[in-house]
Amino acid sequence: MISFVGAGPGNTDLITVKGRKLLQEADMVIYTGSLVSKDHLKCCKDSCEIYNSASMTLEEIVDKMEKAARKELKVVRLHTGDPTIYGAIREQMDLLDEKGIDYEVIPGVSSFTAACSAIKREFTLPNVSQTIILTRIEGKTKVPEEESLELLAKHKASMALFLSVRYMDRLVEKLKKGYGREDVPVAVVYKVTWEDEKIIIGTLKDIKEKVERAGITKTALILVGDFIKGEYERSKLYDPSFSHEYREASK
Ligand code: SAH
Repeated sequence: MISFVGAGPGNTDLITVKGRKLLQEADMVIYTGSLVSKDHLKCCKDSCEIYNSASMTLEEIVDKMEKAARKELKVVRLHTGDPTIYGAIREQMDLLDEKGIDYEVIPGVSSFTAACSAIKREFTLPNVSQTIILTRIEGKTKVPEEESLELLAKHKASMALFLSVRYMDRLVEKLKKGYGREDVPVAVVYKVTWEDEKIIIGTLKDIKEKVERAGITKTALILVGDFIKGEYERSKLYDPSFSHEYREASK
């Protein structure tokens, strides 16, 4: 069996129990070396074959998985965070489908939820935003025009931007245009849950300089929105005057 497994954002305790068990039993692990901690591999069997996919092509990766699967070996393809977000797993799965090889996908803790936890905030606040936009700015990979940051920012939803910290200049300009103001709170979280994690808090006005000063150019999540700082309403769920399925309103 081939298992695509989410390793979580960094700290090795943040993989799922299921993911850890698959790693312990694996005969072959192909891990995303650029972002997955090597410490995850400490739990693998001595006989486990280990490959770093950073220097491999899609075809090489799938070829290794195919050969192992045909020998009925257990393969883990270990991806950073949650594999379904910017994981480039679809192209691997499609090639496996073509070859008639079965696989499963085990979710993981994505870096965007880990980043929000690191700053001790909640994306979804009553009267602030009930929506989270996960996106990126255009880099080498194109982003559809309808999803330009400027247009998305007009929704005033809570946002988490992946793969974008290298382009702070362009990013801040587009967000300012979309929001129509400069005082929107921004948090940049570098290597969340790793030992060298860094958190930078600012607004659209000053975040670019702060990130530059901190020397952050990659492996960071950019969180944007009024959920980071400002007023919100209490939830109905724990409101004493509100009844629901599990609780009667108190007088
Ligand atoms: N599947 C991953 C995302 C992979 S894309 C997930 O669910 O988190 C790679 C991008 O994810 C990086 O450019 C960065 O924006 C973000 N990222 C991944 N790990 C991170 C971490 N530990 N800290 C901050 N950002 C991270």
